Amino acid sequence: NVRVRFAPSPTGPLHIGGVRTALYNYLFAKKHNGTFILRIEDTDQTRYVANAEQYIIDALKWCNIPFDEGPGKNEKFGPYRQSERKDLYKKYADTLLEKGRAYYAFDTPEELTAQRDFYASKGKMFIYNWQNRQEGKLVNSLVLSEEEVQKRINAGEKYVIRFKIPESEILYMQDEIRGRISIKTNTLDDKVLFKSDGMPTYHLANIVDDHLMEISHVIRGEEWLPSMPLHVLLYRAFDWEVPKFAHLPLILKPVGKGKLSKRDGDKLGFPVFPLEYTNEETGDVSRGYKEDGYFADAFINMLAFLGWNPGTQQEIFSLEELTQKFDFERVNKAGAKFNLDKTKWFQQQYMQTKDDAELANLFMPILEKKGINKNIEDVKKIVSTVKERAVFVDDFWGLATFFFETPQEYDSKSLKRSWKEGTTDLIKELIPVISQIEDFSSQNTEIEIKKWMTSKEIGYSKVMQPLRLCLVGKLAGPHLFDIVAMIGKEETILRLENAVE
Ligand code: GLU
Repeated sequence: NVRVRFAPSPTGPLHIGGVRTALYNYLFAKKHNGTFILRIEDTDQTRYVANAEQYIIDALKWCNIPFDEGPGKNEKFGPYRQSERKDLYKKYADTLLEKGRAYYAFDTPEELTAQRDFYASKGKMFIYNWQNRQEGKLVNSLVLSEEEVQKRINAGEKYVIRFKIPESEILYMQDEIRGRISIKTNTLDDKVLFKSDGMPTYHLANIVDDHLMEISHVIRGEEWLPSMPLHVLLYRAFDWEVPKFAHLPLILKPVGKGKLSKRDGDKLGFPVFPLEYTNEETGDVSRGYKEDGYFADAFINMLAFLGWNPGTQQEIFSLEELTQKFDFERVNKAGAKFNLDKTKWFQQQYMQTKDDAELANLFMPILEKKGINKNIEDVKKIVSTVKERAVFVDDFWGLATFFFETPQEYDSKSLKRSWKEGTTDLIKELIPVISQIEDFSSQNTEIEIKKWMTSKEIGYSKVMQPLRLCLVGKLAGPHLFDIVAMIGKEETILRLENAVE
């Protein structure tokens, strides 16, 4: 029974790395008829950002990867916000204390700093662990008497509960992507599990919740790999079944080294967030894929390939296909470089697969804003002729302006190339020919105009190029007679007259 969770901390907008983690969780769950859970890890109240949770929910929704269980949805293992579960964690910290697997520590920040400085002066790093926890320099329940510990707690002294990492063991672990991993427990530190303010740390809450929510696979970013030994040891200390782990490769900057950051996006002109995000404190607005005009399915397809590949040449995958094909075996161990050109390429590919009605509906509001009233059927036809050259719906206007507006000027290069001696006369002759065409369809205008050219023994290009210039303003655009038919007889003649006057 596959149960996976996406467990973001609501500390700001979810960036594409987070969305990819959510996506891989979703794909894995769906592939195995499992359950995809959203859990909000908001125990660190100092980093809490008010609108971040809603942002996460909206982002998953836009991406079309809905969760099956989470805040406000099928709450049978709820609540799914850790802040609403906070009373639950203490007893688990107590269990570990009783089992002798955890201990109280009273060291003040100053004392810990002194330790760090002391070790640094010897050229070493201070780790709170097997080496020094019982030496007597640290103030914890391993060295203090039971009465002393109780006295301090009753007096309201600040404490933390630390996990007692087993000494001198080699820990073997299995990662679904990285394979077998081993580590010497002596290199690990006794992480804090619980603080006297009544809040668990990420580690404790995460493990307890994964256990209580019956999570079968922990799929998360590589930045959590260093926490895996502690997590595995915690499961064992509780005598709980250890879930399977899969740590996903980082998403890297397009150029240079390191993790992709918002700054890279700002510098190179792409968003690193799925949706636009307004920081309520600073008023800063971060760009989003949605608002930049990307289709959600193109964005998801691109994201799926940042760290995974199907092992074939196929690159275009619907969400259903991704669900069928996805597995950990084909997730890379190495980081995945973000690639803007590839991202746009996916967007352009998806543009071609959208139907004209959907695209026309997206284009209509843009036209309305420009004060242009066209019926949807015409807009559909226009869209179908220009989408081939468009990446975004916003490109339509630039590619299709001539369908709506008479050219105000002519591109000088195009003019030079197409307008020769005698062209003006030819166009003047063509005008009455066009006025006589009754059936003004693309096909028929083409037949009639070509018939005229043939009878006059005029080379096609001698007329077609200037005709295009008159209608479009430059030597570009879709099939000429599609334009003629679309703008209609009156407008065609008007544009020819404009040009030869
Ligand atoms: N709250 C952690 C995060 O923000 C979750 C890590 C995990 O999935 O275990 O990424």
